[in-house]
Amino acid sequence: MFFFFVGGVEQQVRQVLKSGAARCINCGSRADLVDYDKVLKLFFVPVWRWPGKDPALYCNNCNLIFPQSFSLPPPPPPTTDYDDYAPSKSLSCRFCDRAVDPQFRFCPFCGSSL
Ligand SMILES: [Zn+2]
Ligand SMILES: [Zn+2]
Repeated sequence: MFFFFVGGVEQQVRQVLKSGAARCINCGSRADLVDYDKVLKLFFVPVWRWPGKDPALYCNNCNLIFPQSFSLPPPPPPTTDYDDYAPSKSLSCRFCDRAVDPQFRFCPFCGSSL
């Protein structure tokens, strides 16, 4: 049986949707988000081609196509807590010019009333 089947299914990139969308699970280099076709080849001749179900990730470096679910999730967005520490919300002391919590009534650095 093995000798009668010279061929197989290959995946071929049809279109790059987003380059550098993830990291390769194999080599760790940049992988592109792509649309791909599955191609059935017999004796190295494509005989049947059909589109892949979902966009997949393709690594240029090691020619690997792998599902998006295999890739690591993207890093979480920066937390909005950062706003609490933005300089625009802080007050600076009139006397020593250091940043002071606006809720303070006295400067903790020089003791002046704010
Ligand atoms: Zn790779
Ligand atoms: Zn002060």
